[in-house]
Amino acid sequence: MSSEKLVINTQVVGNVCKVDFIGNINEDADFEKIIALKMPEYHFNFDQVAMINSCGIREWISLITKIGTQATIKYFNCRQIVVEQINVVHGFITDKSQIQTFYTPYYCDKCNLEKQVLVEVKSINNRKAPAIKCDKCSSKMEFDAIEEHYFSFIPKK
Ligand SMILES: [Zn+2]
Repeated sequence: MSSEKLVINTQVVGNVCKVDFIGNINEDADFEKIIALKMPEYHFNFDQVAMINSCGIREWISLITKIGTQATIKYFNCRQIVVEQINVVHGFITDKSQIQTFYTPYYCDKCNLEKQVLVEVKSINNRKAPAIKCDKCSSKMEFDAIEEHYFSFIPKK
């Protein structure tokens, strides 16, 4: 599985290039076609990203370095693995990047259930996890990471 190459689907709509990343961001990830488009705005969709390894991070930073000074980049559906990179890897995003939506991990003690909930950055206040109810038992789910850390990419308000 991990040797499968990252699939990159691009769709240009006006000034915006929508990009879907599907699979693993690793040393085989080839971002050339994104760079070659030279668009003023990119919308990156991470919904189907399964894994990022250290070589993938290096390739990613190279991509962001090439397009990030010219283009506005919006990040959508950031998986937990992507949020973790945004928080700890310098250069994973640029100052002109805007993170729009991302997944937050929750856990229900009673049901032993995990859930990834998609939230909008603008809906997060003071870096606190929104209250989420368990689908099965309706009790309040536990946030399954460290709030202070997980939401640290969001400016304080
Ligand atoms: Zn439950």
